[in-house]
Amino acid sequence: MPWFGMDIGGTLTKLVYFEPKDTTETEERDELETLKVIRHYLVGNQAYGKTGLRDVHLEMKDQSIGGRRGSLHFIRFPTSEMNAFLELCKAKNFNSLVSAICATGGGAYKFEGDFLEKVGLTLHKFDELDCLIKGIHYIDRNNPCECYYWRNPGNAEESIKVPFDFRDPYPYLVVNIGSGVSVLAVRGPKDYRRVSGTSLGGGTFFGLCCLLTGCETFEDAIELASRGDNRTVDKLVKDIYGGDYTRFHLSGDTVASSFGHMNNKEKRENTSKEDLARATLTTLTNNIGSIARMCAVTEKIEHIVFVGNFLRVNTISMKLLASAMEFWSNGGMKALFLEHEGYFGAMGCLMEYVG
Ligand code: ADP
Repeated sequence: MPWFGMDIGGTLTKLVYFEPKDTTETEERDELETLKVIRHYLVGNQAYGKTGLRDVHLEMKDQSIGGRRGSLHFIRFPTSEMNAFLELCKAKNFNSLVSAICATGGGAYKFEGDFLEKVGLTLHKFDELDCLIKGIHYIDRNNPCECYYWRNPGNAEESIKVPFDFRDPYPYLVVNIGSGVSVLAVRGPKDYRRVSGTSLGGGTFFGLCCLLTGCETFEDAIELASRGDNRTVDKLVKDIYGGDYTRFHLSGDTVASSFGHMNNKEKRENTSKEDLARATLTTLTNNIGSIARMCAVTEKIEHIVFVGNFLRVNTISMKLLASAMEFWSNGGMKALFLEHEGYFGAMGCLMEYVG
């Protein structure tokens, strides 16, 4: 039986696959050829087709799931490639093994008909936020160094990742930054509420960056941003005041108006793709940070856990969020991060399957 959890998101589809490693010789002999083929295909490769990838560094070994021991593998591909994935399921004869798979995310609804018509598979649908919370709790409990924070996030040379003990987590806020953003207040394993959200999320950063710089991949967008300076694009407090706004403790280097310089032709001509990418990243990150902080104040919560694939290969945003939470709360709030970033929904979905 192949054990999968699938999270079909607005941008990326995430797949968690559990590979049992404790199979006996008899089991191995009796195992269906199709199952062997699928396992060897998934575990033997790191890339699938043109756009599927396994995040090998995230693999979790020696896990106990559904009474079996084995490894958890983490795979992703763009949701826009769903047709290619369905073709693959067909080519590997997936429906001869199972008649249904567990899925979460909006795509579980959107693609339900395609799965049934094209590969004869029924989707068992689970709510994405239930799955997200379940996945966070499973992975955090079973991966020793899952949760961390940034020490000295505002100082590029001195900032370091420090493990955080998340065993007694409640209450905490989850800010899931995917294509859009959801904010949840979690007070117990099954006690949570979606308290806010914004459509200005990872999809907005990536979309605007493609428009403004002509980049084509998320990795390129982040790389451009890492070489850019948002101050040529954004209007700072000192551009308006000539220095700090001392009465309200606003440093001159605080952004007063995101993209505020771009109405000026000369400034537009003197800005680079790198600067535009950096300003886009800074704008989106600061906006999410400020919503997160307001939610934390309203909910009286100190620990804010940021997840979602927007944070993939994106230490710039993590450090910005960490600095912002620390600064604007006078050290009262802590920004936390998790290594498996965007995979919690898919993990929770697998847990639903196991029961
Ligand atoms: P969703 O479930 O809405 O697809 P994710 O948590 O998977 O959300 O995050 C999607 C966001 O992650 C994108 O909007 C983008 O900002 C970022 N991202 C990270 N890696 C990639 C990638 N390889 N391709 C596209 N977007 C990526």
